[in-house]
Amino acid sequence: MIIVLKPNTSEIKIDSIVQRVESMGLKAQVILGTKRTVIAAIGEKKEGTEELFSSLKDVEKVVPILASYKIASYETKLEYSQITARDLKIGGGQVGIIAGPCSVESEDQIMEAARFIKKTGAKGLRGGAFKPRTSPYSFQGLKEEGLKLLAQARDETGLAVVTEVMTTDHVDLVCKYADVLQIGARNMQNYHLLQAVGETDTPVILKRGLSATIDEFLLAAEYILDQGNHNVILCERGIRSFETHTRFTLPLATVPYLKERTHLPIIVDPSHGTGIASLIPSMSQASIAVGCDGLIIEVHPDPSKAVSDAAQTISLEVFEETVQRCLLVANSLGYNLDV
Ligand code: PEP
Ligand code: MN
Repeated sequence: MIIVLKPNTSEIKIDSIVQRVESMGLKAQVILGTKRTVIAAIGEKKEGTEELFSSLKDVEKVVPILASYKIASYETKLEYSQITARDLKIGGGQVGIIAGPCSVESEDQIMEAARFIKKTGAKGLRGGAFKPRTSPYSFQGLKEEGLKLLAQARDETGLAVVTEVMTTDHVDLVCKYADVLQIGARNMQNYHLLQAVGETDTPVILKRGLSATIDEFLLAAEYILDQGNHNVILCERGIRSFETHTRFTLPLATVPYLKERTHLPIIVDPSHGTGIASLIPSMSQASIAVGCDGLIIEVHPDPSKAVSDAAQTISLEVFEETVQRCLLVANSLGYNLDV
């Protein structure tokens, strides 16, 4: 159930209601919105619990949460969340762009990419240092050296660094360098990893699993939220289907569908979603048109030399043109693309 508090309820009063919830064996999560504060009380409740909380002086009303994803559900918060990392703003009316190579390869590569991305007005820099590769014989990433190069690029440009964490053992290390943690598609249901990033307060981009349903996707997000980290960004990155023309099938209906289900921001990854560089500009525009909160795009100073995901990687010039085309779409529809 959610306990909706009256406007301007003091922190002391919120704390005392939280204690009361916990004393009944329920888990309490305070969700602060701009319009209202609610306490989500999660767990098996005894008869009469709703009536008891409804009768408290500071409580406006008590409503059951129907969705299985309690904290992620739109009905819990009734307004869209905005997640920020440095100048990157995703959600709550702001559309942000994150770009960069699939993998960090060298100082020259990441610095050239970062400087160019900064000039386009995008606010996030992506780059994998720990890489989940299908083959154990493929490049596995520069690991901590890659994280250091990302931090160097951030120090010079101010871009927010987005990078993947693959195991619970690396959460502290990656948090030392990253502004946003990425949970890759292959780890979407690695529940211990989700809980470990949930214990941090670093924003998390959670990528949809290759064959995950929307409910599984939202319940994976719930694992992070349940640990107290409410800075979760969902990412549609394409799913496996019978179609083999594109690397994955990119279902853009996910975006408006999730807007009806959750307050969490939803971004689109057209790079992994299609696997084909020539499709990235149009699928980026289409994602903006359906109302996504951001894009994450693979770009490289020389895509033909990219050590991973070369076929889906666009050049810096094509990226610049893509940003301009997205801006035209955003402006014509009244969306606030922050570039
Ligand atoms: C990536 O972002 O480079 C990546 C490996 O993504 P995904 O987990 O979506 O395949
Ligand atoms: Mn990649």
